[in-house]
Amino acid sequence: MPLSEYKLCVFGSGGVGKSCLTMQFVQRIFMPRYDPTIEDVYKKNVEIDGQQYSLEILDTAGTEEFSAMRDLYVKNSHGFILVYSITSQATFNDLTDFYERIIRIKDTEIDGTPPLVLVGNKSDLEDERAVGRQIGQELARRWDCTFLETSAKNLLNVNEIFFDLVRQINRTAVRHGS
Ligand code: GDP
Ligand code: MG
Repeated sequence: MPLSEYKLCVFGSGGVGKSCLTMQFVQRIFMPRYDPTIEDVYKKNVEIDGQQYSLEILDTAGTEEFSAMRDLYVKNSHGFILVYSITSQATFNDLTDFYERIIRIKDTEIDGTPPLVLVGNKSDLEDERAVGRQIGQELARRWDCTFLETSAKNLLNVNEIFFDLVRQINRTAVRHGS
């Protein structure tokens, strides 16, 4: 039996496209400008592999990256989306802190990496690319997670992030007999 509601969390540095990816998935709109301080929960019902799911997506913002509140979100989430921009090496490097924090909080519940997708967004900006596709793939291999390059602008691989995460959550639930 799938969980009734899947809670997903989107992390990454400011400006990488967390809100645009979330908005594209939930409402099918691209926002050229979106308030960087807005942190909100979005809900969407979707059918994946013939099954209905109710997704709750936390689009994080926040000046303080980590707090007791943030730790609680992580604890209560079933899956994670870690986003960088392929145009910025710094945003790629920033993800390690997010990852380690998630692992520290989740590893009492499950072995290994929790359901997680590493996302290199803004793939439409090939001319400005600063992080090679292979670099992303290598990190995903190290973290034992899925890797996708996406464009929220061109609606490329956006659904795939969320579909893949739901499938990962299902596999984890089966492994743990819940
Ligand atoms: P957040 O701070 O991570 O939530 O980033 P936003 O979603 O607010 O996006 C920051 C900026 O990047 C905005 O100006 C977006 O229009 C732009 N942006 C987001 N995704 C893409 C993308 O896939 N391609 C391009 N070219 N720009 C994007
Ligand atoms: Mg945002």
